[in-house]
Amino acid sequence: MLTYIFGHTNPDSDSIVGSLSLSYLKNKLGEDCVATRQGDISAETQFILDKFGGTLPELKTSVAGEKVFLIDFSDKAQAPKDIMEATILGIVDHHKLGDLTTDTPLECWIRPIGCSNTIVYEMFQSYNIDIPKDLAGMMMMAILSDTVIFKSPTCTKVDTKAVKELAKIAEVEDYKALAMEMFIVKSATDGASARSLNTRDYKAFDMNGKKVGINQLEMIDISALDDRVDEIYADMQSMKEQEGLHTMLVLLTDIMKEGSLLLCVSDDISKVESAFKCKLENNRVWLAGVLSRKKQVVPFLQPLF
Ligand code: MG
Ligand code: MG
Ligand code: MG
Repeated sequence: MLTYIFGHTNPDSDSIVGSLSLSYLKNKLGEDCVATRQGDISAETQFILDKFGGTLPELKTSVAGEKVFLIDFSDKAQAPKDIMEATILGIVDHHKLGDLTTDTPLECWIRPIGCSNTIVYEMFQSYNIDIPKDLAGMMMMAILSDTVIFKSPTCTKVDTKAVKELAKIAEVEDYKALAMEMFIVKSATDGASARSLNTRDYKAFDMNGKKVGINQLEMIDISALDDRVDEIYADMQSMKEQEGLHTMLVLLTDIMKEGSLLLCVSDDISKVESAFKCKLENNRVWLAGVLSRKKQVVPFLQPLF
């Protein structure tokens, strides 16, 4: 029986490339696996697939009765709706431990490092299996994306070492230049509706029974959105209603200035203010040095719920 390997809803490059890299490894180990995805891919991920000739994983949003292996998440809110009717064989992840539980023992590779693909890279090493050139290139790009070219506080020596090794296998000399090309693609907002911006890297969290939605736009220069902030904010208000959220946050992350403009709609704005020890003005605040949702946002917000 096949095992379906997939990342979180609203998949990013780590989720898509991770489903490809982990299923390749598992198939080499004699386990029958197929890479799938829970939704449309981003322009950034398309750039990676095009660059290295990767195949798009098939779309699969229902998993009742199936065997599954999760990569890049362990939160129920980021899983298919019927995940509790599936058998979770394992998890590879670098986020906080989520709220999914299992009935059977499972294989877990969870570490506080920069990218799930770095963990897959270590799995390849521990099983002594070669990584094909194109797959190495895609894994390298996923790590460069997740670690914001090593700038994110989530980035570790293990991640930088993995990128260097993968770049050799992929025969990419200037991986930082290629990563900048990728971030230029990622930064494009022209012609995108406010809703498509607000859902581009959106994640939902269950915080003690309250639903909190956090979107992040990582851009080379967020001033490109200066005259659209009000429109984005208005759409956040309607998204909060439609999704039944307690709080909706959008982080406009400027990877060159190394900080994020936080926009907030909440039933209790004081929670957000005490999480970040700041006062919101006009429902927004600049958070210097904040680049990582998983390390610098969620851990401060969650305990207040
Ligand atoms: Mg991810
Ligand atoms: Mg990741
Ligand atoms: Mg990310």
